[in-house]
Amino acid sequence: MTTTATTLKGQPLDRGVLDGLLRRRMFYTPSFDIYEGVKGLYDYGPPGCGLQANIIDVWRKHFVLEEDMLEVDCSVLTPYEVLKTSGHVDKFADWMCKDPKNGEILRADHFVEDVLEARLKGDKEARGQKAEEKEKDAKRKKKQKAAEAVKLDDAVVQEYEEVLARIDNYNGDELGELIKKYDLKNPATGVEPEPPVAFNLMFQTKIGPSGQLSGFLRPETAQGQFVNFAKLLEYNQQTMPFASASIGRSYRNEISPRSGLLRVREFLMAEIEHFVDPQSGKKHPRFHEMENIELVLLDRHTQSAGSTKVKTMTVGQAVKERVVDNETLGYFLARIHLFLKKIGVDQKKIRFRQHMANEMAHYACDCWDAELLTSYGWIECVGCADRSAYDLSVHAKRTGAPLLVRERREEPLVIEEWQVDIQKKKFGPLFKKDGKTVETALLDTSQEQREALAKELGETGNLTLDVAGVGDGKVQISKDLVQIERRTRVEHTREYTPNVIEPSFGIGRILYALLEHCYWTRAHDGGDEARSVLSLPPTVAPTKVLIVPLSANKAFDPFTKDISLKLRKAGISCKVDDSSATIGKRYSRNDELATPMGITIDFQTVQDKTITLRDRDSTRQVRADEDKVIEAIRSLVEGDKAWADIENELPIFEGQEVVVTEAKS
Ligand code: AMP
Repeated sequence: MTTTATTLKGQPLDRGVLDGLLRRRMFYTPSFDIYEGVKGLYDYGPPGCGLQANIIDVWRKHFVLEEDMLEVDCSVLTPYEVLKTSGHVDKFADWMCKDPKNGEILRADHFVEDVLEARLKGDKEARGQKAEEKEKDAKRKKKQKAAEAVKLDDAVVQEYEEVLARIDNYNGDELGELIKKYDLKNPATGVEPEPPVAFNLMFQTKIGPSGQLSGFLRPETAQGQFVNFAKLLEYNQQTMPFASASIGRSYRNEISPRSGLLRVREFLMAEIEHFVDPQSGKKHPRFHEMENIELVLLDRHTQSAGSTKVKTMTVGQAVKERVVDNETLGYFLARIHLFLKKIGVDQKKIRFRQHMANEMAHYACDCWDAELLTSYGWIECVGCADRSAYDLSVHAKRTGAPLLVRERREEPLVIEEWQVDIQKKKFGPLFKKDGKTVETALLDTSQEQREALAKELGETGNLTLDVAGVGDGKVQISKDLVQIERRTRVEHTREYTPNVIEPSFGIGRILYALLEHCYWTRAHDGGDEARSVLSLPPTVAPTKVLIVPLSANKAFDPFTKDISLKLRKAGISCKVDDSSATIGKRYSRNDELATPMGITIDFQTVQDKTITLRDRDSTRQVRADEDKVIEAIRSLVEGDKAWADIENELPIFEGQEVVVTEAKS
């Protein structure tokens, strides 16, 4: 699979031009720009907001509505204790190292990656490449201040490639060893950075004026969903499995924000927590609907062997062969794939990559990322982790809240077991302040230990128990204080902590990758400059229709007003461009904004009330009366029909238009 980014039409992607367009047309812009901005913070302008809202709308329909999920909207400000319990305070960190010469802080894995990649590029150059590749590399090298064109041994090239395939799997010590082993220097100073240290990515703050309650801006929306589990289960009438979902901002103090919207410090997430009974084998009731969906997979064994070779297989096959661990995980990978397809992500630029053991977040036992190919390489845009029972268990343990499911057993369970009875009234006076500790130690004993203790008690009238921290660590208890007997217990209900499968979407990353995938340039008849087009599907395009009256003639005004009113009433966003620019020019500046359809109002409209409808991608047109055109637009926006269907239904219009007028513009 190729790793070079190309446009929709297979042209090499010029990221600079696309980036210029996205900023110029205010899809997004650096925040606080007039104050010189802050790295990793971006504002979205009107088309960015429109696109983001539409992606979220599709997401809600595709997941929340289709799967009957329980949506919640939880606080961003999160008390210290919650994130301490979840493990984020201790473990939500990246490795950073400092350049001792200029004090620059580098993210350790990115640093190793960048220097090794630069060396491999230098090697490629030294081995000779095509002229245009050389030119591209020269530009990139200038930016990266990278290595000279130096030829490497074949074995070294292979070793570097293997390290890069495993780059996400190294811990801090290992990254430090790689820096030493390969003598990696910061290109900015020529100096080796200091050994990597962990840097926690959460933004800490104080809640309230006293300064006593510590908290964080949440780094994910998940914890709000976990702490509400008992209420959500109650809301769901105690029925399992079920999923909650949440859309909201998360905050991470990234060490080195980079790549535009791809690594930022504040971003919109859409997360699902699907709660499942672990004893069900994590089966999914709707798995059969997904089992024939084909996915491109890069599993952890392939990466650990230093390769990035993908396999294409159906989800059914992947689960059967245990490449993907269970049905629920497989089901969500397929649903993620379909969502990305629906919003217009290029199918050839999606792969699912499994995390390697060290790379996995502290809470996960298996994880697959949906990665999208961009000009920055393969980028994780959706994480899909099996968090097992981790989060619910730790919160329940810390708070005592019953974050578990109680289900009536169809057949009561009869259990033979050793039970402990404590004479609490005598226990307290004898052990005083240690009473509770001794009692807990006694109740924590396993069935095997209880059997041995019962035997000891029967034979000697006493038992000896190990209790750390009390006396010399051994406590004698006599039979008038405790009885241990084998009894039968009948259990009518089953209690368990559900496991969680979590698909987690970074909306900004998806939005940016999508823009790259939908971008292309159209040769301009009569001009030497190619014009940019963003071919976003009508469903997610920020504005759906551009209305262009042929000229400033007043006769067109009532039609312009009437059509915009009707479109708005139908919930279809539209813009009127009645400027003096040629029609071709007006269309082309809206092609840049991804507006998929255009309506022209001309003299024929005044005569017979017909209007033309133009397709952004082909620039072809049909002509019909207002109602038919509005119905065609509605079906395109809803995704019920494609342009080819509209051409089959409505008469093609070949009259005056774009090509001719574009030549004059
Ligand atoms: P994670 O919880 O790290 O698996 O992240 C979940 C998703 O959030 C990822 O798949 C990304 O799409 C997104 N994400 C994580 N960190 C960032 C970031 N710094 N900037 C933008 N998106 C991010």
